Amino acid sequence: MLPVDRPALRAALRARYPWLDEPDVGPRGVEAGECDACGAEARLVTTCGPGPVALGRRCAGDAGAGAWCDGHAEEAAAALAWLERLPPEADDVARLWWVATGEVRLDPALTAAIASRALPDR
Ligand SMILES: [Zn+2]
Ligand SMILES: [Zn+2]
Repeated sequence: MLPVDRPALRAALRARYPWLDEPDVGPRGVEAGECDACGAEARLVTTCGPGPVALGRRCAGDAGAGAWCDGHAEEAAAALAWLERLPPEADDVARLWWVATGEVRLDPALTAAIASRALPDR
């Protein structure tokens, strides 16, 4: 995996995780980084605020539809349902996606460890 072949990595991730193609939620719909609320999970949705806006799966689930404004109740329900369908390794997939797009640079050993969880057959 060294150096990272980014196009190949993107292709492998999209083949295994078609939900990466969602434009509004998931790693393509948020700015790369860790959850605004806890700092310990990948950001997967952008909510309305006020308060922490880019949330990971656990914090968004805890906040529920209250993390969105009343005018975006439908979007909130869709985003929360979408999060529940994600596989357990979704955080690793998101972090690896950002490496694959060049948005995030990680230590190669860390990248390899994440890749072994997100793409175990590779
Ligand atoms: Zn969080
Ligand atoms: Zn809103």
